[in-house]
Amino acid sequence: MPSKKETHQFKTEVQQLLNLIINSLYSNKEIFIRELISNASDAIDKLRFKTQTEPEILGKDADFKIKITADGIKQTFEVADNGIGMTHDEVLENIGTIAKSGTGSFMEALSLSKDKELLAPELIGQFGVGFYSAFIVAEKVTLITRAAGEKTATKWVSTGDGSFTIEETTKADRGTTITLNLKKAEKGDPDFTDEWTIRGIVKQHSDFVNYPIVMDVEKEEPIPQEEQILDSDGKPVGETTRRVRQEETLNSMKAIWSKSKEDVTEDEYKE
Ligand code: ADP
Repeated sequence: MPSKKETHQFKTEVQQLLNLIINSLYSNKEIFIRELISNASDAIDKLRFKTQTEPEILGKDADFKIKITADGIKQTFEVADNGIGMTHDEVLENIGTIAKSGTGSFMEALSLSKDKELLAPELIGQFGVGFYSAFIVAEKVTLITRAAGEKTATKWVSTGDGSFTIEETTKADRGTTITLNLKKAEKGDPDFTDEWTIRGIVKQHSDFVNYPIVMDVEKEEPIPQEEQILDSDGKPVGETTRRVRQEETLNSMKAIWSKSKEDVTEDEYKE
Protein backbone atom coordinates (compact mmCIF):
# COMPACT_ATOMS: atom_id res chain seq x y z
CA MET A 1 0.00 0.00 0.00
CA PRO A 2 1.51 3.36 -0.93
CA SER A 3 2.02 5.57 2.10
CA LYS A 4 2.30 8.90 0.32
CA LYS A 5 -0.65 11.05 -0.48
CA GLU A 6 -2.14 10.56 -3.93
CA THR A 7 -4.49 12.97 -5.66
CA HIS A 8 -7.09 11.60 -8.04
CA GLN A 9 -9.70 13.22 -10.21
CA PHE A 10 -13.31 12.24 -9.86
CA LYS A 11 -14.56 10.39 -12.86
CA THR A 12 -16.54 12.86 -15.00
CA GLU A 13 -19.85 11.10 -14.40
CA VAL A 14 -19.23 11.07 -10.68
CA GLN A 15 -18.59 14.80 -10.63
CA GLN A 16 -21.71 15.40 -12.73
CA LEU A 17 -23.71 13.23 -10.41
CA LEU A 18 -22.34 15.04 -7.43
CA ASN A 19 -23.31 18.42 -8.83
CA LEU A 20 -26.73 17.11 -9.69
CA ILE A 21 -27.29 15.74 -6.21
CA ILE A 22 -26.17 18.97 -4.60
CA ASN A 23 -28.35 21.09 -6.86
CA SER A 24 -31.51 19.03 -6.75
CA LEU A 25 -31.64 18.19 -3.09
CA TYR A 26 -31.41 21.60 -1.48
CA SER A 27 -34.77 21.22 0.21
CA ASN A 28 -34.21 17.61 1.25
CA LYS A 29 -30.78 18.03 2.73
CA GLU A 30 -31.35 15.71 5.67
CA ILE A 31 -31.43 12.57 3.51
CA PHE A 32 -27.63 12.43 3.67
CA ILE A 33 -28.03 11.03 7.18
CA ARG A 34 -30.18 8.16 5.94
CA GLU A 35 -27.74 7.43 3.13
CA LEU A 36 -24.65 7.31 5.35
CA ILE A 37 -26.46 5.19 7.92
CA SER A 38 -27.62 2.81 5.23
CA ASN A 39 -24.04 2.37 3.96
CA ALA A 40 -22.87 1.78 7.53
CA SER A 41 -25.58 -0.82 8.03
CA ASP A 42 -24.64 -2.58 4.76
CA ALA A 43 -21.01 -2.61 5.88
CA ILE A 44 -21.97 -4.37 9.12
CA ASP A 45 -24.11 -6.86 7.16
CA LYS A 46 -21.12 -7.62 4.95
CA LEU A 47 -18.88 -8.14 7.94
CA ARG A 48 -21.34 -10.50 9.58
CA PHE A 49 -21.62 -12.45 6.37
CA LYS A 50 -17.86 -12.75 6.09
CA THR A 51 -17.49 -13.94 9.66
CA GLN A 52 -19.41 -17.07 8.74
CA THR A 53 -16.37 -18.29 6.82
CA GLU A 54 -13.70 -16.25 8.60
CA PRO A 55 -14.80 -15.97 12.24
CA GLU A 56 -11.39 -14.59 13.26
CA ILE A 57 -12.02 -11.23 11.58
CA LEU A 58 -14.59 -10.38 14.22
CA GLY A 59 -11.97 -10.01 16.97
CA LYS A 60 -13.16 -8.32 20.14
CA ASP A 61 -15.30 -5.83 18.30
CA ALA A 62 -18.56 -7.77 18.12
CA ASP A 63 -20.83 -5.09 19.48
CA PHE A 64 -22.22 -3.87 16.16
CA LYS A 65 -23.32 -0.28 16.05
CA ILE A 66 -23.44 2.92 14.09
CA LYS A 67 -22.36 5.98 16.00
CA ILE A 68 -23.28 9.57 15.21
CA THR A 69 -21.16 12.34 16.67
CA ALA A 70 -21.99 15.95 15.97
CA ASP A 71 -20.14 19.05 17.11
CA GLY A 72 -21.88 22.40 16.95
CA ILE A 73 -18.70 24.36 17.60
CA LYS A 74 -16.53 22.64 15.03
CA GLN A 75 -19.58 22.25 12.76
CA THR A 76 -18.88 18.60 12.08
CA PHE A 77 -21.14 15.61 11.65
CA GLU A 78 -19.75 12.11 11.83
CA VAL A 79 -21.04 8.62 11.19
CA ALA A 80 -18.88 5.72 12.37
CA ASP A 81 -19.47 2.01 11.92
CA ASN A 82 -17.61 -1.14 12.93
CA GLY A 83 -18.48 -2.94 9.72
CA ILE A 84 -16.27 -4.48 7.10
CA GLY A 85 -14.29 -1.34 6.23
CA MET A 86 -12.37 -0.88 2.98
CA THR A 87 -8.82 -1.46 1.84
CA HIS A 88 -6.94 1.24 -0.08
CA ASP A 89 -7.89 -0.41 -3.37
CA GLU A 90 -11.50 -0.79 -2.36
CA VAL A 91 -11.74 2.89 -1.49
CA LEU A 92 -10.33 3.73 -4.91
CA GLU A 93 -12.70 1.32 -6.58
CA ASN A 94 -15.82 2.32 -4.69
CA ILE A 95 -15.57 6.02 -4.11
CA GLY A 96 -14.93 8.68 -6.69
CA THR A 97 -13.24 6.86 -9.53
CA ILE A 98 -15.70 4.46 -10.97
CA ALA A 99 -19.21 5.56 -11.68
CA LYS A 100 -21.31 2.60 -10.80
CA SER A 101 -23.77 1.00 -13.15
CA GLY A 102 -26.68 2.83 -11.53
CA THR A 103 -25.20 6.28 -12.01
CA GLY A 104 -26.06 6.73 -15.66
CA SER A 105 -29.63 5.57 -15.23
CA PHE A 106 -30.00 7.75 -12.19
CA MET A 107 -28.96 10.85 -14.08
CA GLU A 108 -31.12 9.98 -17.02
CA ALA A 109 -34.17 9.41 -14.83
CA LEU A 110 -33.51 12.63 -12.99
CA SER A 111 -33.00 14.72 -16.09
CA LEU A 112 -36.24 13.33 -17.55
CA SER A 113 -38.27 13.99 -14.46
CA LYS A 114 -40.24 17.21 -14.31
CA ASP A 115 -40.20 17.64 -10.59
CA LYS A 116 -36.53 17.02 -9.87
CA GLU A 117 -36.69 18.19 -6.33
CA LEU A 118 -39.47 15.79 -5.49
CA LEU A 119 -38.00 12.84 -7.31
CA ALA A 120 -34.33 13.13 -6.52
CA PRO A 121 -34.52 11.61 -3.01
CA GLU A 122 -36.46 8.62 -4.34
CA LEU A 123 -34.09 8.18 -7.24
CA ILE A 124 -31.05 8.44 -5.05
CA GLY A 125 -32.36 5.65 -2.87
CA GLN A 126 -33.21 3.54 -5.88
CA PHE A 127 -29.96 3.87 -7.77
CA GLY A 128 -27.67 3.78 -4.79
CA VAL A 129 -25.63 6.91 -5.13
CA GLY A 130 -25.80 7.42 -1.42
CA PHE A 131 -22.31 8.37 -0.33
CA TYR A 132 -22.16 11.48 -2.49
CA SER A 133 -25.21 12.90 -0.75
CA ALA A 134 -22.76 13.94 1.99
CA PHE A 135 -21.74 16.81 -0.28
CA ILE A 136 -25.21 18.31 -0.05
CA VAL A 137 -24.26 19.62 3.37
CA ALA A 138 -20.49 19.20 3.56
CA GLU A 139 -17.76 21.47 2.28
CA LYS A 140 -15.29 18.71 3.03
CA VAL A 141 -15.75 14.97 3.52
CA THR A 142 -13.13 12.84 5.26
CA LEU A 143 -13.45 9.08 5.20
CA ILE A 144 -11.16 6.97 7.34
CA THR A 145 -11.53 3.26 6.99
CA ARG A 146 -9.83 0.08 8.13
CA ALA A 147 -10.81 -3.17 6.50
CA ALA A 148 -11.48 -6.22 8.64
CA GLY A 149 -8.25 -8.14 9.03
CA GLU A 150 -6.00 -5.25 7.90
CA LYS A 151 -3.53 -3.40 10.09
CA THR A 152 -3.35 -0.07 8.31
CA ALA A 153 -6.14 2.27 7.41
CA THR A 154 -6.91 4.57 4.48
CA LYS A 155 -7.91 8.21 4.53
CA TRP A 156 -9.92 9.72 1.69
CA VAL A 157 -10.58 13.44 1.60
CA SER A 158 -12.51 15.60 -0.84
CA THR A 159 -14.12 18.99 -1.05
CA GLY A 160 -16.33 17.70 -3.85
CA ASP A 161 -14.82 19.93 -6.52
CA GLY A 162 -13.19 17.58 -8.95
CA SER A 163 -10.57 15.72 -6.98
CA PHE A 164 -9.89 13.72 -3.86
CA THR A 165 -6.79 12.65 -1.99
CA ILE A 166 -6.06 9.26 -0.60
CA GLU A 167 -3.32 8.25 1.82
CA GLU A 168 -2.39 5.65 4.38
CA THR A 169 -3.28 6.35 7.99
CA THR A 170 -3.91 4.55 11.26
CA LYS A 171 -7.21 3.74 12.93
CA ALA A 172 -7.67 1.95 16.24
CA ASP A 173 -10.56 -0.25 15.20
CA ARG A 174 -12.08 -1.92 12.20
CA GLY A 175 -14.71 -0.03 10.22
CA THR A 176 -15.38 3.31 8.60
CA THR A 177 -15.73 6.82 9.96
CA ILE A 178 -17.06 9.55 7.73
CA THR A 179 -16.65 13.11 8.94
CA LEU A 180 -18.42 16.02 7.29
CA ASN A 181 -17.26 19.57 7.75
CA LEU A 182 -20.59 21.27 7.34
CA LYS A 183 -21.19 24.12 4.96
CA LYS A 184 -22.50 27.34 6.38
CA ALA A 185 -26.20 26.79 6.97
CA GLU A 186 -28.58 28.49 4.59
CA LYS A 187 -31.81 30.09 5.66
CA GLY A 188 -34.31 27.42 6.71
CA ASP A 189 -31.72 24.66 7.04
CA PRO A 190 -32.03 22.36 10.02
CA ASP A 191 -29.13 22.45 12.47
CA PHE A 192 -27.53 19.09 11.77
CA THR A 193 -25.47 19.28 14.95
CA ASP A 194 -28.49 19.62 17.20
CA GLU A 195 -29.35 16.55 19.25
CA TRP A 196 -33.11 16.79 18.78
CA THR A 197 -32.83 17.49 15.08
CA ILE A 198 -30.67 14.39 14.66
CA ARG A 199 -33.00 12.27 16.78
CA GLY A 200 -35.94 13.36 14.66
CA ILE A 201 -34.23 12.63 11.34
CA VAL A 202 -33.00 9.21 12.48
CA LYS A 203 -36.45 8.31 13.79
CA GLN A 204 -38.07 9.42 10.56
CA HIS A 205 -35.72 7.86 8.01
CA SER A 206 -33.68 5.15 9.72
CA ASP A 207 -35.77 3.81 12.58
CA PHE A 208 -35.95 0.30 11.12
CA VAL A 209 -32.18 -0.10 10.60
CA ASN A 210 -31.10 -3.44 12.12
CA TYR A 211 -28.26 -2.13 14.24
CA PRO A 212 -28.30 0.40 17.05
CA ILE A 213 -27.71 3.96 15.85
CA VAL A 214 -26.19 5.58 18.88
CA MET A 215 -25.19 9.06 19.97
CA ASP A 216 -23.68 10.48 23.15
CA VAL A 217 -26.27 12.64 24.82
CA GLU A 218 -26.24 14.65 27.99
CA LYS A 219 -28.49 13.40 30.74
CA GLU A 220 -29.36 14.13 34.30
CA GLU A 221 -28.79 11.15 36.60
CA PRO A 222 -29.13 10.69 40.35
CA ILE A 223 -25.83 10.63 42.24
CA PRO A 224 -25.53 7.25 44.00
CA GLN A 225 -26.13 7.45 47.73
CA GLU A 226 -22.61 6.31 48.60
CA GLU A 227 -21.11 9.16 46.56
CA GLN A 228 -23.21 11.87 48.20
CA ILE A 229 -22.07 14.02 51.08
CA LEU A 230 -24.56 13.54 53.89
CA ASP A 231 -25.15 15.55 57.02
CA SER A 232 -25.42 13.99 60.49
CA ASP A 233 -29.08 13.14 59.82
CA GLY A 234 -28.14 11.28 56.70
CA LYS A 235 -29.57 13.95 54.41
CA PRO A 236 -27.63 14.92 51.29
CA VAL A 237 -25.76 18.22 51.62
CA GLY A 238 -24.96 19.00 48.00
CA GLU A 239 -26.45 18.15 44.63
CA THR A 240 -28.37 14.89 44.31
CA THR A 241 -28.19 14.71 40.53
CA ARG A 242 -25.44 15.30 37.99
CA ARG A 243 -25.16 15.72 34.25
CA VAL A 244 -23.48 12.86 32.42
CA ARG A 245 -22.79 12.06 28.80
CA GLN A 246 -24.21 8.71 27.88
CA GLU A 247 -24.60 6.73 24.73
CA GLU A 248 -28.21 6.40 23.71
CA THR A 249 -29.79 4.32 20.96
CA LEU A 250 -31.93 6.47 18.68
CA ASN A 251 -33.72 3.87 16.56
CA SER A 252 -36.22 1.18 17.49
CA MET A 253 -34.72 -1.37 15.03
CA LYS A 254 -38.22 -2.55 14.22
CA ALA A 255 -39.25 -3.07 10.66
CA ILE A 256 -42.29 -1.02 9.82
CA TRP A 257 -44.36 -4.14 9.03
CA SER A 258 -43.67 -5.53 12.49
CA LYS A 259 -45.04 -2.46 14.24
CA SER A 260 -48.62 -2.12 15.30
CA LYS A 261 -50.66 0.24 13.15
CA GLU A 262 -50.88 2.89 15.87
CA ASP A 263 -47.09 3.06 16.14
CA VAL A 264 -46.51 3.88 12.50
CA THR A 265 -46.28 7.59 11.88
CA GLU A 266 -47.57 9.23 8.72
CA ASP A 267 -44.00 9.97 7.59
CA GLU A 268 -42.87 6.39 8.16
CA TYR A 269 -45.81 5.13 6.21
CA LYS A 270 -45.00 7.39 3.26
CA GLU A 271 -41.34 6.51 3.41
P1 ADP B 1 -24.14 2.05 -2.67
O1 ADP B 1 -24.08 2.03 -1.19
O2 ADP B 1 -25.51 2.16 -3.20
O3 ADP B 1 -23.35 0.96 -3.31
P2 ADP B 1 -22.55 4.45 -2.39
O4 ADP B 1 -22.07 5.47 -3.36
O5 ADP B 1 -23.29 4.97 -1.21
O6 ADP B 1 -23.41 3.42 -3.17
O7 ADP B 1 -21.30 3.64 -1.88
C1 ADP B 1 -20.39 3.09 -2.80
C2 ADP B 1 -19.66 1.93 -2.20
O8 ADP B 1 -18.71 2.37 -1.24
C3 ADP B 1 -20.53 0.93 -1.46
O9 ADP B 1 -21.12 -0.01 -2.35
C4 ADP B 1 -19.53 0.28 -0.53
O10 ADP B 1 -18.80 -0.73 -1.21
C5 ADP B 1 -18.59 1.41 -0.21
N1 ADP B 1 -18.95 2.04 1.08
C6 ADP B 1 -19.64 3.19 1.29
N2 ADP B 1 -19.80 3.43 2.61
C7 ADP B 1 -19.17 2.42 3.27
C8 ADP B 1 -18.97 2.08 4.65
N3 ADP B 1 -19.45 2.83 5.64
N4 ADP B 1 -18.26 0.95 4.92
C9 ADP B 1 -17.76 0.17 3.93
N5 ADP B 1 -17.92 0.43 2.61
C10 ADP B 1 -18.62 1.53 2.29
